Amino acid sequence: MKVAVFSTKSYDREQLEPANAGRHQLVYFEPHLTALTAPLAQGFEAVCCFVNDTLDADTVAVLAEQKVGLIAMRCAGYNNVDLAAVKAAGLRLARVPEYSPYAVAEHAVALILDLNRHLHRAHNRVREHDYSLTGLLGFDLHGKTVGVVGTGNIGVAFARIMKGFGCRVLANDPHVNPALEGIAQYVDRAELFRESDVISLHCPLLPATRHMIDADSLAAMKPGVMLINTSRGGLIDTPAVIEGLKSGQVGYLGLDVYEEEADLFFEDKSNMLLQDDVFARLLTFPNVMVTGHQAFFTREALQAIADTTLRNLDAFEAGAVSGPEWVL
Ligand code: NAD
Repeated sequence: MKVAVFSTKSYDREQLEPANAGRHQLVYFEPHLTALTAPLAQGFEAVCCFVNDTLDADTVAVLAEQKVGLIAMRCAGYNNVDLAAVKAAGLRLARVPEYSPYAVAEHAVALILDLNRHLHRAHNRVREHDYSLTGLLGFDLHGKTVGVVGTGNIGVAFARIMKGFGCRVLANDPHVNPALEGIAQYVDRAELFRESDVISLHCPLLPATRHMIDADSLAAMKPGVMLINTSRGGLIDTPAVIEGLKSGQVGYLGLDVYEEEADLFFEDKSNMLLQDDVFARLLTFPNVMVTGHQAFFTREALQAIADTTLRNLDAFEAGAVSGPEWVL
């Protein structure tokens, strides 16, 4: 089967090629898939996409015109896909529901540890032969309350780690996950926000979860709360969080995702002027740590993404499309 792979980086190719072992014809394109780049998929039976490709109604219409039959996401989330348009056009949509929950959970913990103990600032000081400790004071995680919003694969892995640190773990999810019995206590979202010293977001971006962190929810949190978002940028109303950082209501912010990341992340922009003033303001705070959507980026996760993506391509070709990988 001919597959147009969009948003390709060298590391994607390095994982996909051996996983494919020559059975499909994978053609790699560096640009994001958008309505403008979709004509590149002319003559392909499938497109393979990632988190910042734009699969809106316009893009889907171009794909459908070209008789593309499958959209194979090489990620778990599909909030960038217009599901109604894909369904109406009769395309199939596959994803990688689980690759390494540990990769993302461990990155969330890395952000917590860095922010708490000011590791990035400490490292810069030591490089300058400045060994003073003023401003580097942290707190024991042991005994603190950690709130986990969304207790699917990643939320569970994260909760287990925080339990290991000796934290009290609160959880919120419309579905209680039995894997957290004895590890976390389920509470409503208001109680989780009110009680937690650290809040980590692990739910998908949906209309119901968009901007769940806004001025009102921030006001209901503990002063000085630590917020961690490795899930999707749109869960947070960034200007509201900036106001919270300025007032001290937000004590620490760790982000791996940002609502407007599509034009920023995954590229070297070091020679370009930053045009996003909200993002620029975020980077001025000493108690903010931002990484560029790298939580998934471990060897094990990339291997699993490649393997599942190839299995999805095989299944489509064989007409055997069922299971958690298949959204449509
Ligand atoms: P999952 O589907 O296993 O779990 C998501 C959980 O969120 C489910 O239990 C679901 O019931 C819950 N949920 C849905 N609506 C909710 C709500 N309103 N409030 C609270 N919980 C709600 O997904 P996962 O594999 O654990 O991934 C979680 C998210 O992490 C994904 O949606 C994706 O956006 C993000 N992610 C980020 C990276 C990264 O590199 N930063 C990588 C993979 C996934």
